[in-house]
Amino acid sequence: MYDFPIEYDEPVFRPPSEGRSFLLQVTIGCSHNLCTYCNMYRSKQYRERSLEEIESELIKTSQYFQRLKHLPKRVFFCDGDALGASTDLLVGSLKLLEKYFPSVERVGIYATAQNMLEKTPEELRLLKAHKLSIAYLGLESGSDKVLHRIVKGNTAQDMIEGCDRLHDSGWDISIIGMLGIGGRKFSDEHVEETGKLISRISPKFFSLLTTVAVSGTPLRKMVDKGNFELLTSKELTVEMRGILSLIKPQRGEILFRANHVSNQFPLGGRLSCDTDSILRTLDQWIEQIPDGVYPNVPAHML
Ligand code: SF4
Repeated sequence: MYDFPIEYDEPVFRPPSEGRSFLLQVTIGCSHNLCTYCNMYRSKQYRERSLEEIESELIKTSQYFQRLKHLPKRVFFCDGDALGASTDLLVGSLKLLEKYFPSVERVGIYATAQNMLEKTPEELRLLKAHKLSIAYLGLESGSDKVLHRIVKGNTAQDMIEGCDRLHDSGWDISIIGMLGIGGRKFSDEHVEETGKLISRISPKFFSLLTTVAVSGTPLRKMVDKGNFELLTSKELTVEMRGILSLIKPQRGEILFRANHVSNQFPLGGRLSCDTDSILRTLDQWIEQIPDGVYPNVPAHML
């Protein structure tokens, strides 16, 4: 077997649904890098890569994939908020992909609300014309109080406006929410506002993962000092039930998934046609989960 010819600037992250995509780093790190629960890119200094670096990687990888006789159809642009890269760099990278990987049908990217709002509708349509057509947004919560507390760097209204701009430009959006991110204190508000915000945005995809107090993060320090109470397994499941029960899609069905490694049990379906059956499953789980038990967190996440 041939060795993969490029060395990524580690660590590299991608959404679970991009597990079979070819990952291309157009940026390194995250330009925000302040969210209290996130340690993904703390070791990296944010920068945009040059088109020369990117082209050299594409030449090597296209030869590799040709030898394997397996050309990727999907590509995912990393790192943390790659949509924040200049439009010139993104369009240049997409044109290089078209040159070296004509097989590619769709390109995905991580984005913040700030990234979305910095792009004009014309820029977004140009990117879409070059197959960059799905953005993954870490929404985390619909509550401005929670967003402020976790230093997310944007409000719920920013996320509405950013997502409207992408939808109007023909993009798909996949949104990630976080169970337990309001702690016990803001749990009710987190549920209510997240249900409302997901209904308002009505993304094509919505997933929920579980808040983990990762060592070295500000959130871990808050937990250790007693300033943030993590939720038990039962409370997290009650939050999931609450959020899903409030979601009323306004733009067609939402494909829901809670299959991240941080989740206690995998779950999924279409909102709203499968909502009742998902809620029944959650009700059974809530009855069975003992009180006072916290989720098992995989060691590599701590
Ligand atoms: S925007 Fe995303 S990648 Fe950047 S610090 Fe926040 S959670 Fe981490």
